[in-house]
Amino acid sequence: MDAEHLASDLDRVLVSEEQIHRRLAELARTIEADYEGKDLLLVGVLRGAVMMMADLARSLDRDVEMDWMAVSSYGSGTTSSGVVRILKDLDSDITDRHVVVVEDIIDTGLTLSWLVSNLTSRRPASVEICTLLRKPDAQQMAVEVRYVGFDIPDEFVVGYGLDYAERYRNLRSIATLAAHVYS
Ligand code: IMP
Repeated sequence: MDAEHLASDLDRVLVSEEQIHRRLAELARTIEADYEGKDLLLVGVLRGAVMMMADLARSLDRDVEMDWMAVSSYGSGTTSSGVVRILKDLDSDITDRHVVVVEDIIDTGLTLSWLVSNLTSRRPASVEICTLLRKPDAQQMAVEVRYVGFDIPDEFVVGYGLDYAERYRNLRSIATLAAHVYS
C-alpha cells in the first residue's frame, strides 16, 4: 500500500520505498563480503521484520537459511515495556553457526540486548545484528549493531512491517503517524 491511501492517518513519510530498497542492496553487498565462504543463518524477529527479511534475503546474491523468533515487545502502546518473552523459538540449532539477527527497528535496545545474550548462550560461531531502523536511544546499547539501514529521530513510525496496534504493516514506506490516531 502506498502512503497516499493513508493520507489522513500519516504525518509524513520518513523513508521512501526507493530509499529502503537502495539501502538494503548496499547492506546485502556488505553482508556478502563479510560472510564470504561461510554459511549464514538469518534470524528474523517476528512480526515486524517480515518485510525486511524477505527483501534483504532476496537482495543477497548467495545462499542463506532463514529462521524466525517471536518475542514480546510493545503490545498495542507506543512505549517500550522492557519485558521480553519468547513467544516462538528458533527451529534450528545455531551451535557453531554464523547468525545475523534481522530486526525492523531498535528503540531502547532492550529487546535486542536480551535476544543477543539469549542467542549467544547457545554457542553460535558469531551473532551480529542487522536492523532497518535505529532510534537515538539505541546508541546507548551495550550490544554493537553491525548493520544499520537508517538512523531516524525518536518518533513512533509505522510501515514496512512496523505496526501501530497491528495496523499499517503493509505500507511500503516508513512514516510517522498523525496525532489523532493515538488519541
Ligand atoms: P526496543 O526493545 O525498545 O528496542 O523495542 C523494539 C521493538 O519495539 C521493535 O522490534 C518494534 O516491534 C517495537 N517498536 C519500537 N519502536 C517502534 C516504532 O516506532 N514503531 C513501531 N514499533 C516500534
